[in-house]
Amino acid sequence: MGFWNQLFGKENNPTHESSNVKISGPFTDKNKFYLRIQRIQINGTNLSSELINKIKKGVFESIITGKRIDGNLLDEIPDDFQWDDYDKWFAIFKEADEWPYMWSESKKYTQTLKEFPLKSFNEIIHSLTKEEIINLTKKLDAVLTKQKSTKKVELVQNFLIVIKGKEDLIKQHLIEEHFNWWNNFWRKFGMPREKKKLLFHSIQGIAIIEENLADFRNLDIIKEVEIDTPTDSCSFCKKYTKKRYSLNQAFNIRTIGHPGCRCSVRPLVDSF
Ligand SMILES: [Zn+2]
Repeated sequence: MGFWNQLFGKENNPTHESSNVKISGPFTDKNKFYLRIQRIQINGTNLSSELINKIKKGVFESIITGKRIDGNLLDEIPDDFQWDDYDKWFAIFKEADEWPYMWSESKKYTQTLKEFPLKSFNEIIHSLTKEEIINLTKKLDAVLTKQKSTKKVELVQNFLIVIKGKEDLIKQHLIEEHFNWWNNFWRKFGMPREKKKLLFHSIQGIAIIEENLADFRNLDIIKEVEIDTPTDSCSFCKKYTKKRYSLNQAFNIRTIGHPGCRCSVRPLVDSF
């Protein structure tokens, strides 16, 4: 509460472009905040409710302590993590060819699909034996189609050139080894990782906005808020700026926001 009073003292005529305001409050009632996070609905995933609760706990701890999310917790989410919200927004951003902050791996992935130099790749494939092609198809399906950067595709191609002249068994072995390495690399640093981070970020974003709105409800003078977006936010978020929203409306807007949304709410006070 003190945080927001402090804020009003300094600024009650906010500009839409600036986002200097820190959105996290002091969280004086940690238990209440914890319960609030636990109540956040995360639908359309293939994660167990136990794991989702554990993730929420991790988000809570990270907000309270100001520390990053524990990397081990990210690793507990399986790489075949399904999340409808991510898929929905992936399609929207792809269609618009506009990728927000925190979606860089997804962006690289789509760019690679577009720029994939099929011809030279096919030339290399044609120089391999039938068995190698079958083997590669399986591996490529698992790795390359999910790859995102052009650079990585180039590296795979270069690798194929290197193994071309080797004996069949050695080729086979090198291919296996190489693709296992890529698979692990991709899982650790690529899109699956990004998607997992976006899940944490979404829970965090909803939790903080809910907490802020709860604070505002306790202050009679605040009936409305505006949505504050970072200057580099996507056009989907920008649509919500420069308008007044009731506290309930604002909450609904955030919950339908995209994963990785960095919008916050800013109280509006007409006059004293
Ligand atoms: Zn956005």
